Amino acid sequence: MSHLTQQDRADIRTALEAQRGKLIKAMQSALEESGQTQFAEVLGRASGDSADEALAVTLGDLSAARLDHEVRTLQALEIARKRLDEKDFGLCEDCGARIPVARLAANPVATRCISCQSLFERTHAGQHHGSI
Ligand SMILES: [Zn+2]
Repeated sequence: MSHLTQQDRADIRTALEAQRGKLIKAMQSALEESGQTQFAEVLGRASGDSADEALAVTLGDLSAARLDHEVRTLQALEIARKRLDEKDFGLCEDCGARIPVARLAANPVATRCISCQSLFERTHAGQHHGSI
């Protein structure tokens, strides 16, 4: 049984949708500023609820448009959105502990409990910078 009540899931979903909406807006204005309005327009259409396929295609295009970080975040949000109704949503993927509701509401894409996450970050620290 999940530790999340219906209400918890509803709260997390609200937080997730808000983050998703904000991210899409930020990506749109970044694209418009750089003159890539065709992507901004597709992204606008993809922000609807029933546009998963359109969004997948768009995300591929956006990777090419140098919004890699945003694309990854949006993809993580999409995955969380799909997983939200599953039984094991909110369980740490490393140790299986219950991730506190407050943490999930603040960061709906969290897939680890705080101790596993900080271990993960210590273990992987510097990976992005290289040592030279
Ligand atoms: Zn854990």
